[in-house]
Amino acid sequence: MKRIPCSGCSLLCDDIIIRSDGIFIDEVIGACLKGKERFDQITAKNRIVNPMIRKNGELSNATWEESLEKTIEIIKNSTNPLLYGFSNVSCEAQLKGMELAESIDGFIDSNASICQGKVLNHTKNTGITLTTITEIINKADLLIAWGANVAESIPRLLNKTLFSRGKYRMTGREIKTFIIIDPVKTTSFNVMGVRDLALQIEPNKDLDLIRILMEECCSVDSIPSTGVAGLDKDDLKRLLLHLTRAEYGVIFVGQGLLTPQTDSNLTKEFLELVQMINVKQERGRISLILVGGHFNMAGFDQVALSNYGKQGSLQFKESQLIETDDSIINKIQKDDFDCSILVGTDPISHLPFQLSKKLSKKPLIVIDNKKSATSQLADVVLPTALTGVEVGGLTYRLDQVPVELVKIVNPPNKIPSDEELLTQIIEGLNKK
Ligand code: SF4
Repeated sequence: MKRIPCSGCSLLCDDIIIRSDGIFIDEVIGACLKGKERFDQITAKNRIVNPMIRKNGELSNATWEESLEKTIEIIKNSTNPLLYGFSNVSCEAQLKGMELAESIDGFIDSNASICQGKVLNHTKNTGITLTTITEIINKADLLIAWGANVAESIPRLLNKTLFSRGKYRMTGREIKTFIIIDPVKTTSFNVMGVRDLALQIEPNKDLDLIRILMEECCSVDSIPSTGVAGLDKDDLKRLLLHLTRAEYGVIFVGQGLLTPQTDSNLTKEFLELVQMINVKQERGRISLILVGGHFNMAGFDQVALSNYGKQGSLQFKESQLIETDDSIINKIQKDDFDCSILVGTDPISHLPFQLSKKLSKKPLIVIDNKKSATSQLADVVLPTALTGVEVGGLTYRLDQVPVELVKIVNPPNKIPSDEELLTQIIEGLNKK
């Protein structure tokens, strides 16, 4: 029996027990269903175990030599490559991805840029604090999930934070208030208790709610009698009272609030609201946790910041980092790329149709361990080992705490890790 961290989601639970002889995993104890699925991925039907290249319009199995040759040919023929994904790989692989982007004058961006990165880019100089899971366990008395279906995306987050008993409190769940703000009645609503507040707002009305909370923040007595965003006056009043009177409040900021379509005003005004509340706070403060689902979503910004002094997307020209405000979204919108290298991600399924269509029109190299809509359209598919199961590596938890993942079993067919594969591509490019 061995205790290991789980790479099923960005919570990276480090209390999972496994029984393994180094060849098979016989038992997994303590993981949620999503975590178990991660370990089952070793033998899943959608697992990719052979490299593939497109020949005569059809994807078919190929040798590693052929596939790497094709990959290098596509990259060599490109003058404006796009590298994207990198949230389901280790920090070591993220660094290799950045080195590859640097050597081929590419643009590199992670999945984080269309959700949590938006908040990070605006938090500079705002005094808003991100908090940690341990701080929430020990101190929080108010937890708000805003546009975050935490019960399904990060299944054990509420077990650890809402249903736990903190070090500095005599009581646990009974003094914690849980508030959900979401237009969709998600599974997370099922954990609501009598002291909690379920706020099902009208779709796309988050900005209206933020603005009215800012206006009314100074006085709960002046809340409009008609309510706002589908919420009535009493609910708004309770929300404001909780926000301004909690001893230690945390907002789990989810994808519902930070979709690719979210305009930057919403993010900016949301942070202004948090700042304003913290000024009004009578007893404590409100902090944030950015709820990204992929297990190393936070790692990309850490690696970019520590190696290139900048978080978020990186654009290289003549092997130098240049200033850019571009994200994956506007790069694709502007057709400002001529091939893409997608690592551990499935943008064809997740991006709006117009963007997916543009992405699929240019040569596509996919590095992943499972089949997806994106891999089906790729020109080259290169399989890699499962990080946290078949290969170890450094990752950052959703609260920016580093967690070292470990190798448990060997990958099938001697599949390389993402880091090894990206190194082989860089070496191949240098050779020719
Ligand atoms: S919550 Fe996430 S990290 Fe924890 S066991 Fe479930 S999938 Fe794994």
